[in-house]
Order: sequence, then structure tokens, then C-alpha cells
Amino acid sequence: MFLDVHELELHSIEFEETLPPGRIDFGRGVVQVEPLAVQGSAELLAAEIHLHGRLHTALEVCCDRCLEPTRRSANADFDLFYRPMQTIAVSTEVEITDEDLDIGFYQGNGLLLEDAVKEQVLLTLPMKNVCRPDCAGLCPQCGRNRNLGDCTCDKAAADPRWAALGDIARPR
Ligand SMILES: [Zn+2]
Ligand SMILES: [Zn+2]
Repeated sequence: MFLDVHELELHSIEFEETLPPGRIDFGRGVVQVEPLAVQGSAELLAAEIHLHGRLHTALEVCCDRCLEPTRRSANADFDLFYRPMQTIAVSTEVEITDEDLDIGFYQGNGLLLEDAVKEQVLLTLPMKNVCRPDCAGLCPQCGRNRNLGDCTCDKAAADPRWAALGDIARPR
């Protein structure tokens, strides 16, 4: 859904959308597994698009340690401001202060709601995504998922006589 500034000059836009999986490409390792519900409104304040509302969906994200897909629900309330891109293109003297970092920019005549939604969904993900706090990860030697059981490499590494060998075998 395109939020057009010329339409926003006339009236605010209320939206309530259900985006099926696949409509937004979330990038590598992140898959939307439920319809994404987003509702809210957009209005023009001076030249800034003010976008606020809430969204909900579910994602499948690969665990950083064991690489198994893990399911996460993504819920977010958002309250965002987008400035026209021209305001920084006109002057190279514009200083971006810390306060401005929460402000996005739009190009041309407006903003795709899907782009704003994508960013907000990705922000719900933690920096480190693990399937569970005690995920044992993969064995660095044989690649076995240690959550499913120990491999024989672990025993060898625990034996000091084999520790040196283990260091050599471990990929760098
Ligand atoms: Zn894991
Ligand atoms: Zn192993």
C-alpha cells in the first residue's frame, strides 16, 4: 500500500491490511509463517509523514547456534516520522543529531507501508537469536547438532591427550 503525500495533504489515511507470507521479503534466514496484520493511520505533519499503529505476525528464524528454524511471534506498536529525502539532499550541512536517528526518510511522493512494516518486524528480532537459552549449538568438528545428543568428538576433546589434536582438527 502506497502512502501518497498528495493524498495525505487532503486527509489522513487509515489502514488495516493483512499481508500474506511472501508479500514482504525479509531477507536471509527470516521467513514469515503467518499472515501479517497491520493497522493504524498515516497523517502529514508539516512535510513529515507520521505513521502509527500496530502489527502482528509470526516468523521462523534460524537459531544462531544450531541453525534449526525457530518460531517467534512478532508484535510491535510503532510511532514513526518520515521526512522527505530532499531535506538532506538540498544541504550537505545538515547535521544528524541523536534525536534524528529515530526519523526515517521518504523519497519522491511518499512511502510504501510494506517498507516501514518490514523494518519494524525486523526490529522485533533480538540481536542474538537462539532457539532456547541453553542451546548447545553445533559441534565445531563434526557439525552434529549437540541438542540431539553428544558426538564422539566431545569425548576426545575432553581427554587432555587428544586436546591438542582437537585444536588441529578444528576449522579456523
Ligand atoms: Zn539452537
Ligand atoms: Zn562432533
